[in-house]
Amino acid sequence: MNETKHPPAGAPERPETLIDTSKMSAGRRAAMELTEAARVSAHEATFVSGLFMGEFDLRKVFPFPVQTAGDREHADVFLNRLETWLREKVDADEIDRTGEIPQPVIDGLAKIGAFGIKIPAEYGGLGLSQTDYCRAAMLLGSWCGNTTALLSAHQSIGVSQPLILFGTDAQKKKYLPRVARGEISAFALTEALVGSDPSAMTTSAVPLPGGDGFILNGEKLWCTNGTKAGVIVVMAKTPPRIVNGKPKDQITAFIVETNWPGVEVIRRCHFMGLRALYNGVIRFENVRVPRENILFAEGKGLRVALTTLDTGRLTLPAACVGLSKRCLEISRDWANRRQQWGAPIGKHAAVADKIASMAANTMAMEAMTLLAASRVDRDKDADVRLEAALCKLWATENAWQIVNDTMQIRGGRGYETAASLKARGEDPVPVERFLRDSRINTIFEGSSEIMRLFVAREMLDPHLKVAAPVLNSQLPGLRRLRAALNALGFYCRWYPRQYFPAEWFTGWNLKSPVPAGHLRYAARTSRKLARTIFYALLRHGPKLEHEQLLLGRFVDIGAELFAVTAACSRAKQFIRENKNPEECAHFLALVDYFCRAARGRIQQKYHGIHHNDDHSGYDCARKIMAGQLDHLTAGIVRSPSDNA
Ligand SMILES: Cc1cc2nc3c(=O)[nH]c(=O)nc-3n(C[C@H](O)[C@H](O)[C@H](O)COP(=O)(O)OP(=O)(O)OC[C@H]3O[C@@H](n4cnc5c(N)ncnc54)[C@H](O)[C@@H]3O)c2cc1C
Repeated sequence: MNETKHPPAGAPERPETLIDTSKMSAGRRAAMELTEAARVSAHEATFVSGLFMGEFDLRKVFPFPVQTAGDREHADVFLNRLETWLREKVDADEIDRTGEIPQPVIDGLAKIGAFGIKIPAEYGGLGLSQTDYCRAAMLLGSWCGNTTALLSAHQSIGVSQPLILFGTDAQKKKYLPRVARGEISAFALTEALVGSDPSAMTTSAVPLPGGDGFILNGEKLWCTNGTKAGVIVVMAKTPPRIVNGKPKDQITAFIVETNWPGVEVIRRCHFMGLRALYNGVIRFENVRVPRENILFAEGKGLRVALTTLDTGRLTLPAACVGLSKRCLEISRDWANRRQQWGAPIGKHAAVADKIASMAANTMAMEAMTLLAASRVDRDKDADVRLEAALCKLWATENAWQIVNDTMQIRGGRGYETAASLKARGEDPVPVERFLRDSRINTIFEGSSEIMRLFVAREMLDPHLKVAAPVLNSQLPGLRRLRAALNALGFYCRWYPRQYFPAEWFTGWNLKSPVPAGHLRYAARTSRKLARTIFYALLRHGPKLEHEQLLLGRFVDIGAELFAVTAACSRAKQFIRENKNPEECAHFLALVDYFCRAARGRIQQKYHGIHHNDDHSGYDCARKIMAGQLDHLTAGIVRSPSDNA
């Protein structure tokens, strides 16, 4: 089987030379250069990166990963304890009502090891795998969003994850045992002016004379766990580096202890959902941070943040799987019990449709997440950025739809609070809480819009490596000419391959007709997608980055193809493991239904690539933003804060 290695031979090494920033506004250039400099260049062709280049490599996702019996049993001891603790001691509705997670609940979680699931045993953690961590997140997500957020912020983005990835031995020895025991940790990147774009960061760390430390000043916003944390990873600007005679912004990650002089929790923030989130505004005023508390290296903070989030992003999809399974159970139960118009509501096609797509999407979400998690377990240095980002994007958007559909199926009872249902003598089914708690999932840890941009950047990377130097006016002429010849050679080999039958390269032999048909479709469509992206590059050139909606369609098609392939891989595994022909037939029917629905969605996206109103919509938005259609908002009561 042939396989293109990314980057292709002869491609430039430094990613910051790839994008011509000379014609951008100063703010946009600063944001672009900072993110590009922190970007980790792809070090392997993964299933998803190949998908966008027309290389549909099934070996990367088949067979579906199965945990060894030993690994599973080892984790089951903890997972059983966690499940029992959640069911018996964690009153999720009471936590939501009071906005507090009782200290004995937190202590109990610490006692069973829930604060150090992935921390190696030598540092006092459970040393479990990414797959087991995801299984824990599924349990948590099915029960209590607040407890999920506490444990996830602590170990997916808080001190332990970056420390495991980047910490020195001394840092690991000092901090990992503390956080494994239950000293709460947090991650502080966001500021009032820093949301998705870290280049506007104002928190600064100025080196002390003598160089043994820094003085940290600034204010961080929405730091989850921040009001209870003992240690926080803080991102701050350090003095700029001079590159080609020009100062380049640098961001550095520091481990900061909250009992150091100058660290202050200014206020606790409150939200629509996740009402017991210990989230706050944290101020740092002349805080002395020793140099040995730098994570990784000076100026590498954004790399720390982005890499931490790469794997950290798998927790949220896993929690979404748990939440979706719970919604499916609630919907199935209610659709059977509730009689209207002479039949259980689940027998009315409009409700049945929701239940079917809920089940199918939950199955696919789980398959995608477990595939990505197993990749981390097989190889600690695996490049799962794209897989994790697509899982995050697809799972959070679909889980939101699933919770919304569950509310619709539960009707008025879906909208009623659990406490009110209970007071009336009905089952306190917490769909209203689920809806409030899960809305944030498409916003934090990389909003859906930013995930699409991130995946699009990586999707274009193999092309940019080959073609961008040709168009980059900042490069010398000879360099551009060499790049043009290199690009010609690359595309002469790559392009014809996009028309060859997929089987020539994959050599698969799948007996069951259901996955095989859908896999053939996915392989064909991957090639079509690669060709379409290539034509878009030819048509738009460097301006393609402005076509966010077009890029978003490519990304969404890629996400659906990943979901289809993961579901088919899971189906093969299910059949191999399960000897009951009836159960196998049911599962295959579900996978078939999922794949057909996904193919319909892909078709719609393709239609939108060629038939859309993107530009007229953009023009309308510009007019609205400029106040030219102000009469549209006439006749309403305005709050003084509306135009603040
Ligand atoms: C409950 C909660 C918990 C949080 N926990 C933490 C935490 O522990 N640590 C931490 O550091 N931060 C945390 N955050 C911050 C969170 O990660 C940010 O809210 C998120 O990064 C988005 O930033 P923003 O809200 O400022 O949105 P903005 O960046 O201002 O974006 C607003 C909207 O514009 C879109 N947008 C922005 N840029 C673009 C673009 N270039 N193209 C297209 N669309 C764009 C966004 O997708 C979004 O829809 C938390 C936030 C909340 C609400």
